[in-house]
Amino acid sequence: MNRVVKLEPFILTVPRDEPYLGALREGEEPNAKGYFVRKGNKTVYPTVDRSVLVRVETDTGIVGWGETYGIVAPRATTAIIEDLLADFVVGRDPLQPSEIHDDLYNLMRVRGYTGGFYLDALAAIDIALWDAAGRLQEKPVCELLGGRIHETLPGYVSGLPKPTLAERVAFAQEWQARGFDSFKFAAPVADDGIVAEISELRKALGPDARIAADMHWAHTPDEAIAAILEMEPHGLWFAEAPIATEDVQGLARVCKGVSSPVGAGEEWRTIFEAQLRFNAQAVNIVQPEMGHTGITQFTRIARAAHALGIRVIPHATIGSGIFLAASLQATLALEGVDGHEFQHSIFLRNQGLITDGLECSNGEYRVSDSVGIGVEPTDKLVSQLERP
Ligand code: MG
Repeated sequence: MNRVVKLEPFILTVPRDEPYLGALREGEEPNAKGYFVRKGNKTVYPTVDRSVLVRVETDTGIVGWGETYGIVAPRATTAIIEDLLADFVVGRDPLQPSEIHDDLYNLMRVRGYTGGFYLDALAAIDIALWDAAGRLQEKPVCELLGGRIHETLPGYVSGLPKPTLAERVAFAQEWQARGFDSFKFAAPVADDGIVAEISELRKALGPDARIAADMHWAHTPDEAIAAILEMEPHGLWFAEAPIATEDVQGLARVCKGVSSPVGAGEEWRTIFEAQLRFNAQAVNIVQPEMGHTGITQFTRIARAAHALGIRVIPHATIGSGIFLAASLQATLALEGVDGHEFQHSIFLRNQGLITDGLECSNGEYRVSDSVGIGVEPTDKLVSQLERP
């Protein structure tokens, strides 16, 4: 049996010229720690990009890498890994990532640690173990998950980080000229309103472009229904995260009250959270985020969704490219997939942080057939890692 001999967490900080989602509006000044609140969704962001990486090493010297969300308070996640979880992974068989995941989940379930930072820590460990498992067997992770069923994956352009609507429209047109036909705008920074946003985008991009609205949990169910109905005449691909995540019945009401599909799921960590929404018929498109779920929960969520006829379009958040690679790898083996988010501002920046193996051009992701998650951190990335 192979054994894990070492597991270490790291923090990666990557400076940004402009904060995520674009320039700050009035009243959005960063505090002394570099955090600011977007008025449009009342959510805190840092002025830099950050994530938490995990490196596992086996007794035969094989190394696997994982990564999780870390934009705020990354030391909460690294402390959970260092103080608690690492010692429960050392000595285990890296070829059993799902079993290890469930054992780590069980350690804290009766205390209510069924989400948040605890599950983020599990996600990073899970990805690192799957990566190591692939490398040990000299196979890509998609093979371990049942085999690759997609040659390429459609990528949609997410986020149009420009200060004015005219500039956002022109920016979307630039991506359209590069072969992309699907787009998503962010409601919190649509200063002229979401109807003006989709209407202008539709006029510029033409009738065939797919345009989704990320509504950032900002509405009550009634407001969300009204807003979506107002967008629908302009051709809405899907409405993402229209209302507060806790209101499952409200989300079901939104689904029933509109014609367009409702997307949700980037903030869920586990199949348990997904199942609540599936049972309530509260979602039409599920958007699992690998940085929060890890490979084990990501595939459980996506497979359960597919079995119920719910479409899968994985989310892509702020990271170095390690959890994005894991997301694309896992998605290659999944049915019922309509595409994968393409965060161009992060993806393009990550070139140089991870080895070659991911490409997104002409509207499609191409993913290498290499072992594990298909990429690894470059020396440049490793030199930037901070041991907490
Ligand atoms: Mg979103």
